[in-house]
Amino acid sequence: MDEIDLHIHTVYSDGTYTPAEAVHKAKEIGLVAISITDHDSVKGIDEAIEAGREAGIEVVPGVEMSSDVDKDEIHILGYYLNWRRREFLSKLDFFQKIRMERNERLLRRLKQLGMEVSFDEVSQLAPKGVISRLHIARCMVKKGYVSSIDEAFESWLNPGKPAYVERVRVSPFEVISLILETEGIPVFAHPFLSKRDDLIPKMVEAGLMGIEVYHSAHDESTVEHYKKVARKFGLLITGGSDCHGEAKGELLMGKVHVPLSILWELKKARDKIARKIKKI
Ligand code: AMP
Ligand code: MN
Ligand code: MN
Ligand code: MN
Repeated sequence: MDEIDLHIHTVYSDGTYTPAEAVHKAKEIGLVAISITDHDSVKGIDEAIEAGREAGIEVVPGVEMSSDVDKDEIHILGYYLNWRRREFLSKLDFFQKIRMERNERLLRRLKQLGMEVSFDEVSQLAPKGVISRLHIARCMVKKGYVSSIDEAFESWLNPGKPAYVERVRVSPFEVISLILETEGIPVFAHPFLSKRDDLIPKMVEAGLMGIEVYHSAHDESTVEHYKKVARKFGLLITGGSDCHGEAKGELLMGKVHVPLSILWELKKARDKIARKIKKI
């Protein structure tokens, strides 16, 4: 059975592979299509498409954006969005700015807690400029403040932990609208990690079109549960490994089995959006 992976990070956010390296890794593993879904960045898409053309791997344009509800984080994936659209790019600039401002406060907080990590040290791991808590966690491990990335998050960086600082808040409904405005397909990423199934009806009302059923954090019963949720709300089923290259130790690409037929349904939705736009 042909398999795909619709959730992959590159050096344009917190992954360790360049887009071309991600494509080559996918080829080596035997995948037939991947999506590049960097946090708040679409800069890796063209490079991946180009490498995919040469390697015979289909590349789906994508993005992953974070949003907040109460004390929880909701991540929304956007597929087949118009990633060159100027209005969208300026929105991404705004998202990157609030991320940067959050990072600065986070590093100050860490210093107060006796863990000195400089902006330069973090930047070295993030050559393309989008810095996430994963980069900061990796620095904390490197400097010996914690013994693992998991410990960095569980003891310090997760919501409610001493080094957690909030970003300027953006709601999932705003992010869903933004992806729709950009002609993309909004998908609720790794719902099991957010544990906010209660928000699904409202997100569907706001235009949510899919849910990430297959994910490296989802076991079999979780997959079954979200398949049912997808059926109930008429949502597309998507899936991916959430591969960050080697940033988290274990390489996740190839560990989550997503059938190619998922991509056919996603493309039907893309074509429907394109037809609607033409009519307007
Ligand atoms: P940020 O986008 O800056 O809020 O950072 C979130 C990123 O940190 C996620 O995209 C994950 O890559 C990573 N992350 C969050 N929690 C964990 C965890 N428990 N273990 C490893 N990585 C994590
Ligand atoms: Mn990440
Ligand atoms: Mn995520
Ligand atoms: Mn992700």
